[in-house]
Amino acid sequence: MYDVAKNLHEVLDNIPDGVRLVAISKYHPNEYLEAAYAEGQRVFGESHEQELSQKVKTLPGDIQWHFIGHLQTNKVKYIAPYISMIEAVDSLKLLKEINKQAAKHDRVIDVLLELHIAEEETKYGLTPDACRELLEDGEWRGLKNVHISGLMMMASNTDDEAQIRKEMMTAADFFDEVKARYFASDPEFKERSWGMSHDYPLAIQCRSTMVRVGTAIFGPRVY
Ligand SMILES: *Cc1c(COP(=O)(O)O)cnc(C)c1O
Repeated sequence: MYDVAKNLHEVLDNIPDGVRLVAISKYHPNEYLEAAYAEGQRVFGESHEQELSQKVKTLPGDIQWHFIGHLQTNKVKYIAPYISMIEAVDSLKLLKEINKQAAKHDRVIDVLLELHIAEEETKYGLTPDACRELLEDGEWRGLKNVHISGLMMMASNTDDEAQIRKEMMTAADFFDEVKARYFASDPEFKERSWGMSHDYPLAIQCRSTMVRVGTAIFGPRVY
């Protein structure tokens, strides 16, 4: 097995106080998660509902699970009882469904709004303008069982550091804008989730509070 404990500590050594590590464990078997858990890691991220459900049933109950993938509205009900954070919310429709399902379990679910800033084509994420529109519209304020805790983004998959830095700083500046305009009175709107295995040190320089690191801890995924 990949030396998960060693890799985890190497990553943790690069992360300052105030930045949290979400260990991205998708496609990795339970024993890999257990190895990280044994070293004290408690926050894990998964991107497929079925795989997550399987792991939740068989791994320790004090793990905080983050859903990091694209979530279909019809899957929300399965994760609503236990999910700690849903990181990639990119529509009012999804926000409303999370609210509805969370209410059934008498919970408030923390979510992040996913920004689409990278130049690559992807179907997911809100452009800054679409995100402004969603927040300006205000319907989210009435959703009492969902709490918007910050923003999430994925930078372009490139080796061009300047490009990655530019995108992450755009996200950080956008965070300041929406924080001032819509969340000034909410100290719990504070998360900036960017940075993956290849760019998390850069993300930390660009004011990330939450890095999502998979491969650097668990090795290459076997699909
Ligand atoms: C898979 C994934 C990660 C982790 O990627 P690594 O390159 O393995 O660190 C982070 N964020 C999201 C949204 C992912 O889907």
